[in-house]
Amino acid sequence: MKKHNYSAGPCILPQEVFKEASQAILDYNNSGLSILEISHRSKDFVDVMEEARSLSLELLGLENKGYKALFLQGGASMQFLMVAYNLLEKKAAYLNSGTWASKAIKEAKLFGEVQVVGSSEDKNFSYIPKKYDVPGDVDYFHCTSNNTIFGTQMKKFPKTAVPVVCDMSSDIFSRQLDFSKFDLIYAGAQKNMGPAGTTLVIIKEDILGEVSRKIPSMMDYKVHIGKDSMFNTPAVYAVYVSLLTMRWLKEQGGIKAIEEQNEKKAQLLYSEIDINPLFKGFTAKEDRSIMNATFNLTKDSLKDEFDKMWKDAGINGLNGHRSVGGYRASMYNALPLESVQILVDVMSDLERKA
Ligand code: PMP
Repeated sequence: MKKHNYSAGPCILPQEVFKEASQAILDYNNSGLSILEISHRSKDFVDVMEEARSLSLELLGLENKGYKALFLQGGASMQFLMVAYNLLEKKAAYLNSGTWASKAIKEAKLFGEVQVVGSSEDKNFSYIPKKYDVPGDVDYFHCTSNNTIFGTQMKKFPKTAVPVVCDMSSDIFSRQLDFSKFDLIYAGAQKNMGPAGTTLVIIKEDILGEVSRKIPSMMDYKVHIGKDSMFNTPAVYAVYVSLLTMRWLKEQGGIKAIEEQNEKKAQLLYSEIDINPLFKGFTAKEDRSIMNATFNLTKDSLKDEFDKMWKDAGINGLNGHRSVGGYRASMYNALPLESVQILVDVMSDLERKA
């Protein structure tokens, strides 16, 4: 039986994608060859890469606006340093809204001065810092749109005169934003986009070429752009499955349609958290993520019973991250509304029984 998968990432992808992806391992496009055994320079794969690059821009509404899309390796963690390598000459401004932002700050400090303009570390990152200014003399501003571990999400982004860099690993393709306000967006694939192994990087080309340091080829966005994201062998299968997932998203009606679904799912779960006295949300209400909902039991004594109930209901991956504890329900694009209803039913059953 298919589980209701709330994993934080890698995570659930659409069932149709799993089917098509498995077929391509056996025989890709009736070629008599597996997608895993063809050259990355073959027309079959170059077509995959080109469509993946253009579809990512299309879904975000960024075609013909000076942006280039890349599918790189090394995860979002590689982008923590690659961003600074390519953009940080003297000083950059960072918003510290969680563990991943802290890691990005640590890497950037190897390249220049980092000004942390706002932080929510004082309350274990349970809210999004607000009321901060981004100075006009920094090379760029870096933020994390969705904090996967803590379950907070930026609803507003500051107006700045400097380039905006955003780690969208855990909410890319999940909600409508004016993506043209961002100059560099990166996202590890393994949430809404596809399997682990590739990272989408979307760059406004005109922000590059400003730093004076020499950049090793593999770290240089310009090199990857110049080679159409094929400077070295890309993660062919991860890019292919990401393409299938993006095609699926387009068929659903794109980001606008999936956002409506995501809002419904989040509303269903958060209303149960608020109404049920046995549960308490972890984050400030106004900053709640529609992707990752974090919550705790109000009575620790019910833990064993609740854990057994949700596992018996076929739910997987609900345990919170060790730095927060409690529970985390990750409701990425491919998680059906019915799965959220199952969880909500288990939560209200617990209230009835307790
Ligand atoms: N940023 C965010 C917001 C994340 O959730 C994660 C991990 N899931 C990362 C960065 C690190 O990603 P990776 O494991 O691909 O390096």
